Amino acid sequence: MDTETADVIGHDVTTIVCVCGNTVSKDGLIQANSDGVPVHNGENTPVPAELAEWPADEDLYTLCPSCGRVYRDSVIEETGTAPVAFRVDVTAGPMAEAIRVHWNLST
Ligand SMILES: [Zn+2]
Repeated sequence: MDTETADVIGHDVTTIVCVCGNTVSKDGLIQANSDGVPVHNGENTPVPAELAEWPADEDLYTLCPSCGRVYRDSVIEETGTAPVAFRVDVTAGPMAEAIRVHWNLST
């Protein structure tokens, strides 16, 4: 089975062009935890119930909110390639809600 791989430039997760065509400047990409749940990046503020806490081990993933593909930041930073780590259903209740809360906080 072929692994899907996104385009990425220079080991930089912010340059990902998702397999679906989404980018940071298009629909945006979201920092997530190892379950693909968007993480809360505000310091010294309570973590909203819908979001995950910033992972203590800094093991971050990047979620494409358009298609639900998730990439592992450490793999991109080490190898300069962006294989799809796993995929989540962004239309399902809790995940859709977390994405909505994320954008509310960041805009
Ligand atoms: Zn995508």
